[in-house]
Amino acid sequence: MRVMLIPNNYQNARLFQFAGTARFAYNWALEQENKNYEAGEKIISDYELRRRFTKYKNEPDNQWLYTISNNVCKQAIKDVDAYRKFFSGLAGHSRYKSRKRSKPTVGIEMSDPESVAGSNDGIGIDLGVKDLAICSNGYVYRNINKTSRVRRLKKKQRRLQRRISRKYEKNKKGGSYQKTRNIVKSEKQLLRVTHRLTDIRTNYIHQVTTEIVKRKPSFIVMEDLNVSGMMKNKHLARAVQEQKLAEFIRIMRYKCYWNGIRFITAGRFYASSKTCSVCGHKNGLKLSDRIYRCEHCGAVIDRDMNASMNLYHYGKSIISH
Ligand SMILES: [Zn+2]
Repeated sequence: MRVMLIPNNYQNARLFQFAGTARFAYNWALEQENKNYEAGEKIISDYELRRRFTKYKNEPDNQWLYTISNNVCKQAIKDVDAYRKFFSGLAGHSRYKSRKRSKPTVGIEMSDPESVAGSNDGIGIDLGVKDLAICSNGYVYRNINKTSRVRRLKKKQRRLQRRISRKYEKNKKGGSYQKTRNIVKSEKQLLRVTHRLTDIRTNYIHQVTTEIVKRKPSFIVMEDLNVSGMMKNKHLARAVQEQKLAEFIRIMRYKCYWNGIRFITAGRFYASSKTCSVCGHKNGLKLSDRIYRCEHCGAVIDRDMNASMNLYHYGKSIISH
């Protein structure tokens, strides 16, 4: 099955990043095998390669690899393994991937989604403030409220609100407020802007959820908003409301239902942001920490990506039991 994706600039940049990282991991793994082969050693297993790659990632110069979902590199290394098995004994003949040849298709060299771990597999989705949704398969959907279009509308909305309250104050007679024709006009304008904002936000949620569902994951895992800790913080609660996160969950849930995708909610005992998605160790983490650093295994991962990976693992464990 082939899926066509028309990405916007941001997605495009992200896809190139994925393709670049996949190519990097592929070439890295191939180099390991080739060196090994030339030294007359036994073939390095897929498992061992990935173990070595994790170690490599933890070296100070290679931390950038953590900005990309683990699945990208995992799949690239698996590809090397498959390639090697296919030409068993001919490891020295594998070709390195050049920048020219590895163009991003859907996601990670994903011309055939069925064959890629991560699609048709489950997806863990972490809802955030900086970005709307961070998916364990590497897709990140930005926060629409940060686009210039929405920002402009929000500014207009605030301006109208201020103007209206000023006019009410000015036309106050005795103790009671008067509604002048000007006020009525401004209030109508305000209502229009407010509706417009609601439409944009709702539309965006539909776009994102549809896109996720179209990837046909076998399950989707999300954290219950009421237990996510975001609602306990006043500043975050506003962001939750502005991004309509509750609406996002509701829509995601029914779209899963329609499409026969299992929808799993991670409950309050699942510390998705405090657990290390690499080793499972629980670390302390401040709300302001954007990067997750594991004190146990040394992993350094984007906070939200870590959370989404954990949600994915949680879903996996639910499915297998
Ligand atoms: Zn760890």
